[in-house]
Amino acid sequence: MAENPAYDLAALKARLDGIALEDNPALMRQKSRDFYWYSPPLKRQLDEVSADLVVSPASEEEVRRVLEACFALAIPVTPRGAGTGNYGQAMPLAGGVVLDLSRLDKVLEISTGRVRAQTGAIIADIDNACRSSGQELRLHPSTYRSASIGGFIAGGSGGVGSITWGGLRDLGNIIGLRILTMEASPRILQLTGEDVQKVAHAYGTNGIILEVEMPLTPAFDWIQVIVGFDSFGEAAAYANALGEQDAILKKLVSVIAAPVPQRFFLRHRRYLPEGQHIVLAMIAPIAGAAFDSFTARWGGRVLFHSDRVGTEEAKSLPPLYELAWNHTTLRALRVEPSITYLQTLYPFPNQLALVERIHAEFGDEMPVHLEFVRFDGKITCFGLPLVRFTTEERLEAIIARHEAIGIPVFNPHRYTLEEGGMKQTDAVQLAFKREADPNGLLNPGKMIAWEHPDFAFESGKTYLFAGLAARPQALDHGTA
Ligand code: FAD
Repeated sequence: MAENPAYDLAALKARLDGIALEDNPALMRQKSRDFYWYSPPLKRQLDEVSADLVVSPASEEEVRRVLEACFALAIPVTPRGAGTGNYGQAMPLAGGVVLDLSRLDKVLEISTGRVRAQTGAIIADIDNACRSSGQELRLHPSTYRSASIGGFIAGGSGGVGSITWGGLRDLGNIIGLRILTMEASPRILQLTGEDVQKVAHAYGTNGIILEVEMPLTPAFDWIQVIVGFDSFGEAAAYANALGEQDAILKKLVSVIAAPVPQRFFLRHRRYLPEGQHIVLAMIAPIAGAAFDSFTARWGGRVLFHSDRVGTEEAKSLPPLYELAWNHTTLRALRVEPSITYLQTLYPFPNQLALVERIHAEFGDEMPVHLEFVRFDGKITCFGLPLVRFTTEERLEAIIARHEAIGIPVFNPHRYTLEEGGMKQTDAVQLAFKREADPNGLLNPGKMIAWEHPDFAFESGKTYLFAGLAARPQALDHGTA
């Protein structure tokens, strides 16, 4: 980690007169954190990280003034939405300014199929604003109620909705981004088409997102269902088959093996009989009857159905998506603090066999959690297995074993883009960084390729967000 240099904070404060600033050490420390502590290695490495100043601009003009001043004084800037990211993404490794963008929170324009919002708008607030037009966002993280849309794009990957729409990596799931460069005179760039991928999942290392334009889809009061099975294999096969039912409109299909639900989903415990391996599903009401028939045919036991428990009871429980994605890990951690997790991809078409194989090897050390998604047009699943942490060496050995048998790991125990494994940096990405942040002042320490120009791009590793120099993975299918 870089040594914290002596920044000219007095000069910075003078230049930022009129903009909300915070230099109370406790508050700065709080705003310099995200959910990095899910990972024991990251907790060990990043615990002392703190900004030297938190700046909370209220307008685009104020953001521009902050970037201009920090560029002139060579002070690093780390953007922050709501700070719900994992991997220490929003943590200022070199100190300097944390740029809190939560006050840029307006929903600006809603029309058929699209919404334009400021970066700091909370995702649930965007959906609420879209409701009156009968529309909602295609996908959101399970941190829907707290995360910002700009933070999701710069730090997230997908989530609730990915079973139908894929992820942020898919062309078309982000329509456009308006960003500000980090230069002597910051410029506004409008990115559309494939260009949005330069900034998506780049941890704010190559421009500050000011506004986003996202596609919308018809809104539903999604039915929330928990289906139980006696055998884990049946639960996983049912979830895979449900994912493949193109005409049953759904937003979530997650599988969690017993005894995780029974031990960790405390608020839903009365619906979770011992031994039941569960599938969490969110189904559009128009598909409710079709879903019931499909589930009955598979012999699934409906343990919970949001339309059948009474309105008061349904309201008193957390939404099912807050048992899924990385919320599963959060609920487990609250009960068993030594738990951590991995993020894996079970490649199509061998996903179910690979799940069975790896979990047979690790047993109770690594309880199963799968999230089914549409990936390059096929239904497959990500793994977010829980891991009972013992040592960092053991964690590395578990990761190595996954990779050895063809299960890519997007390592949540690394804070750099490349080692995290979701984002492939390449010559195009690097050229864009040179253009948008020539002095390397945005979120320094997160892009290895910037700090080590001889970094080998061609590692042969699988990345979720493919590099831009090569053709996107999704377009490679079916071509000679
Ligand atoms: P932050 O954490 O504030 O920032 C994330 C990254 O974006 C940082 O690198 C930051 O520097 C950068 N950034 C923020 N704003 C800007 C901007 N305006 N311009 C440039 N860069 C910016 N992620 C998923 O993808 N799917 C999930 O289902 C999911 N579930 C989660 C569940 C839990 C319990 C937790 C703790 C995390 C989960 N995450 C998930 C990760 C995280 O919540 C999401 O990525 C979230 O959308 C981040 O939004 P945020 O506003 O909190 O961003």
